[in-house]
Amino acid sequence: MNCPYCGDVHSKVIDSRDASEGIRRRRQCLSCGARFTTYEKTQPASLFVIKKDGRREEFNRDKLLIGIRKACEKRPLPTGIVDKLVDDIEAELYHLGRQEVPSVVIGDMVMERLKSLDYIAYIRFASVYREFTDITALKQEVDTLLSAEASQPPGQLPLLPDTKVKGMARSGK
Ligand SMILES: [Zn+2]
Repeated sequence: MNCPYCGDVHSKVIDSRDASEGIRRRRQCLSCGARFTTYEKTQPASLFVIKKDGRREEFNRDKLLIGIRKACEKRPLPTGIVDKLVDDIEAELYHLGRQEVPSVVIGDMVMERLKSLDYIAYIRFASVYREFTDITALKQEVDTLLSAEASQPPGQLPLLPDTKVKGMARSGK
């Protein structure tokens, strides 16, 4: 830790206390006597994402958030739900305790959650993530959803207008 005034490396700690951002230490330079402050904080374990092409990049929460937000754009979802979804995924990722996670694992986590949240957002995300190259692959995914709609989780927004009535009748509203 170099003195910001003279650059000397020797200093003594004259005060040390906990701060919200870590430990705050007040130091005095042994060379010029100037006082300065340092913060010591824990480095969060870094997490790397292994992409499909084998490249690695550091996990980026914002990037994930942007992708999911885009999929949920203009959908009638409760405020803050996307942030919560990203929080959940981030927590689960760090909970895995691994240094590297394949991007498909993260993608599947998102898909799983979006599927129980909103089918339209799910399809949008899937079309980017799974890179649907033709309409047949997309149709297959939609068909799967439609056939699974009987076992629709409560609170799911209906995919088709006519199921709306059914769904609302079911929930007793
Ligand atoms: Zn100094």
